[in-house]
Amino acid sequence: MTYAVVGTQADRDMYRYKDPMPDNQRLRNPSYQRLLLLLLGFARTHAPCLDVGARKPVTGMTVVPSLRGRLGPHPLAALAAVLPRCWAPVGLEAVLGISESRRRETRPDHFLVHDPAAVAGEHILVVEDTWVQGGHAQSAAAALLLAGAADVTIVVLARRIRTDYQRSLMEASLRQILADREYSLDLCPVTGGRCM
Ligand SMILES: [Zn+2]
Repeated sequence: MTYAVVGTQADRDMYRYKDPMPDNQRLRNPSYQRLLLLLLGFARTHAPCLDVGARKPVTGMTVVPSLRGRLGPHPLAALAAVLPRCWAPVGLEAVLGISESRRRETRPDHFLVHDPAAVAGEHILVVEDTWVQGGHAQSAAAALLLAGAADVTIVVLARRIRTDYQRSLMEASLRQILADREYSLDLCPVTGGRCM
């Protein structure tokens, strides 16, 4: 949905929304509120876009669970509650005890699907907060496909961009991607242009 350039508010929001805090305080947290609006806008405007071009409409949804063993419900799950109710929650569990370096790899065995029968033949949406290298979301998607899902679509709130990484390459790409582009609901995150 967005790009989070390191050092900007968009990037800080991706951490601050999930800082440890009581639930009632989180609702007043500006970072949480911005991400809630982002996901609400997506739900209201672009949820049907996910079905265009897919073999089946989306029927189930899961957020990527933390591989770090975070205690309690993840704030991303609270944000995802604004997504369409017709997308049934799919139980996905992170396998804990995986080393930091291996967690970044794309491996379906990093996640367990609670009820493979519930995803078999279905189109499942995977919601991730931040895409760094994509290992977590792609591992979750792979686990769902191995469990029998017909289609998996990954929706990411923010793709993290480090400008100090391959600077010359990045600067050219950033200029092209971000120049004069404010976030707009008119720009479809599914098609990259107008909604189909
Ligand atoms: Zn759209």
